[in-house]
Amino acid sequence: MPYRTGTWGDQAKHRSEGRKSYFAEYQRQWRLRNAEHWEERHAARRILGRAVANGSIKRMPCENCGSQPAQGHHRDYSKPLEVVWLCKRHHLRLHRSLSS
Ligand SMILES: [Zn+2]
Ligand SMILES: [Zn+2]
Repeated sequence: MPYRTGTWGDQAKHRSEGRKSYFAEYQRQWRLRNAEHWEERHAARRILGRAVANGSIKRMPCENCGSQPAQGHHRDYSKPLEVVWLCKRHHLRLHRSLSS
């Protein structure tokens, strides 16, 4: 028998602790990364909101499924008026795929 009995529980414990600290670190990095762009993102949304309000940008249905209302997704926050319109579901899905 190459395996010693009684080590499995310990191993599983260590493994889950390792994963937990990895996750905390990941969250910390994510927060740092997003804080960096927060100003930019906020400004882009404000500019877009104003453009929609005064009619220079038309709110479109979701590019993926055509449902409304859609949210403006910025591919590039330095171009606040260049957005892709996506419903909440597809917008979330896109961000999830971007952050992984
Ligand atoms: Zn959609
Ligand atoms: Zn977005």
